[in-house]
Amino acid sequence: MRKKIVAGNWKMNMDFSEGISLFSEIVNMVRDEKKGDQIAVICAPYIHINSLTQLGAGVVKIGAQNCHQNESGAFTGEISAKMVKSTGCEYVIIGHSERRQYFAETDELLAAKTVIALQNNLTPLFCIGETLDERNNGSYYQVLEKQLENGVFTLNAEDFAKVVLAYEPVWAIGTGLTASPEQAQDIHAFIRAKVEAKYGVNIADDTTILYGGSCNPKNAAELFAQNDIDGGLIGGASLKSRDFVDIVKAFN
Ligand code: PGA
Repeated sequence: MRKKIVAGNWKMNMDFSEGISLFSEIVNMVRDEKKGDQIAVICAPYIHINSLTQLGAGVVKIGAQNCHQNESGAFTGEISAKMVKSTGCEYVIIGHSERRQYFAETDELLAAKTVIALQNNLTPLFCIGETLDERNNGSYYQVLEKQLENGVFTLNAEDFAKVVLAYEPVWAIGTGLTASPEQAQDIHAFIRAKVEAKYGVNIADDTTILYGGSCNPKNAAELFAQNDIDGGLIGGASLKSRDFVDIVKAFN
């Protein structure tokens, strides 16, 4: 079943006590105000996850922002999917453009991370997106197709059906420039068509595809009203409880 998801990505923000208070506000507001079956998720820094899963009480789900591709071992400073899962976390962002750009994460590495996340019963929020240059020179459809093919289309149908995709144009992340609802819908429909060509119409219909990139309380409703947009991955606006919860409520 296609789900409606609004996932916040706190990135490298919030010390421990700041994170606890922001999250507590979000949980209370979601509990009091949310109508409908949309799922609210906060993808927090690792240090918060265990405490937040307890505070969230299922009202707000928890995700990690990354995981290592190996099960365990001598990888100083890294966190495995199994460790993440053991804290009660349910989701993990894989392939965020900041990981691709600043940590040189390739499609092949991200494919391995997706496999290990699924083996540990985490739902991958798998991100793809083109840069401004790729948008301007017209190569963006090929770029997105390659990211899909090498990152997630290596999965069998049963595993792919557990993945949530997120389209995040790099030029819209943290810039205040949002893709227009038409631009975003165009890409989401393209992504769904590629999923259909690979896995068939039933899986394509059921695939949840989120939009990310300067999504805010003002533009969320129009974006989420598009046929192929099933929710959002929210950076900056997830650091303010009112803004984040207004986006959670932005479904018709
Ligand atoms: P933004 O970030 O909402 O601040 O643009 C989105 C993201 O990076 O997931």
